[in-house]
Formats: sequence, structure tokens, C-alpha cells
Amino acid sequence: MAGEKKGQLFIVSGPSGSGKTTVVDHLLKAVPDLSFSVSCTTRAPRAGEQNGREYHFVSRDEFEEMMAADKFLEYASVFGDLYGTPRSNLEVATQEGKDLVLDIDVQGARQIKSRLPEAVAILLVPPSAAELEQRLRGRAQDEPETIRRRLNHARTEIEHYKSYDYLVVNHDLEETCAEVVDIVAAERGAADAKERAAGLRKDHNPERISAILETFGAQTQ
Ligand code: 5GP
Repeated sequence: MAGEKKGQLFIVSGPSGSGKTTVVDHLLKAVPDLSFSVSCTTRAPRAGEQNGREYHFVSRDEFEEMMAADKFLEYASVFGDLYGTPRSNLEVATQEGKDLVLDIDVQGARQIKSRLPEAVAILLVPPSAAELEQRLRGRAQDEPETIRRRLNHARTEIEHYKSYDYLVVNHDLEETCAEVVDIVAAERGAADAKERAAGLRKDHNPERISAILETFGAQTQ
């Protein structure tokens, strides 16, 4: 649409095993004029990851130089590694007339929301702690200790759900993908998506989140 504001930020956070990668991939394919914000990280690439596609893999020195030069919109330490969103991602997206999707953790989401309150923050939540644990064990990717750490981190993210605008409970991956597409469409002004997205606002039906929080033994912040 001519004159439409671009450079909108859509943050998608969620614990490992919440289906976040699938949802983000779907969103980028299903919705026009969206680009993925490739973060910088000091962690080593995993099998199949490509420098510049999933992440820009940088050394700790390089990362710290970028921090000192104020090159990040936000950054955080996650599981002992540094992760940050380069400011240039937003500049490029705006120049190209695109909106940006950020797959970042709760610390990053809170930094962005405090600086750019118009950013839209979406938290993907598993239906329960038991379900998340089962999914993490099922993908047989992690050691028991890593699973325990991921579950703890998941609890922290869910405890901070009030920092987000929308909460999407992933009961069914296909439905979750459609709901996240609705949120983006609603935020871009699509009247038909607005009603559906309203039911996903964090304050809508608080019982659904308290029930999930209880399964994690979590306390809201
Ligand atoms: P992974 O190493 O599994 O790809 O990501 C670990 C966590 O770091 C995920 O929760 C992911 O959302 C988060 N993350 C990835 N990039 C960034 C970033 O630029 N900033 C922040 N704050 N978190 C990030």
C-alpha cells in the first residue's frame, strides 16, 4: 500500500521445542514484505547452519567490538553465549520497504519493547511443562542436563509473558502458524484478521495462561 509505514518489528520468542523455528519459517513464506533479522552470535554453528543465513557467527572479540560501537538494537547472553540484533537489519528492512521478524529471547524482547514500544511481541507457549519436556525428549537432540536447562529457561520466558503483546499456545503447529499470520495481518490493518488476533492478546482470557504457568511451577513477573 502506498505510503504504508514499513520497518515494523515483529518479535517471536518461545522456548526451544515451542515450534518457533517452524512458525517463523512459515510466516516468512506466507506473508509478503517480511524479512528475517539475522542475529550475530558467539555460539558455534550447528550442523546445517550457514553463516549469514541462520546467524552471523562471530568471535567474542568481534561481538564486543560491535557492542562498544553501539551496533546492536539489543543483545543478551543466552546459555553462556552472546546474541544480538544488528541495528543495520532494521535500516536495511526499512529501505527495502519491509517489516522485520526477530527470533530473539525474552531479554531481547524486553529491551526492544522499552526502546521501540510500537514493536509487536509474540510469545509462543507450549500447552504445559510436561508437553514441552516430551517434545524436547522426543527430538532426541539434547542431553538430559540440557533438557533440564531448557525447561528452566522456558519457565523464565513464560514468567515474563506480560512483556509480550500476544500469547499463542502451540497445541497444533498448523493452527499456531495460522494464528501468527493473523497477528501480522491484523497489525498491518487487515479487518478480518483483527477479530481473530484479538483473542490472542495477552490479556484475553487470563485463565489460559495461569493454567500453563502452574504446570511450570512459575511465578508471573
Ligand atoms: P539458538 O542458539 O538455539 O539458536 O538460540 C538460543 C536463544 O537465543 C533462542 O531463544 C533465540 O530466540 C535467542 N536469540 C537468537 N538471536 C538472538 C538475538 O539477536 N538476541 C537475543 N536477545 N536473543 C537471541
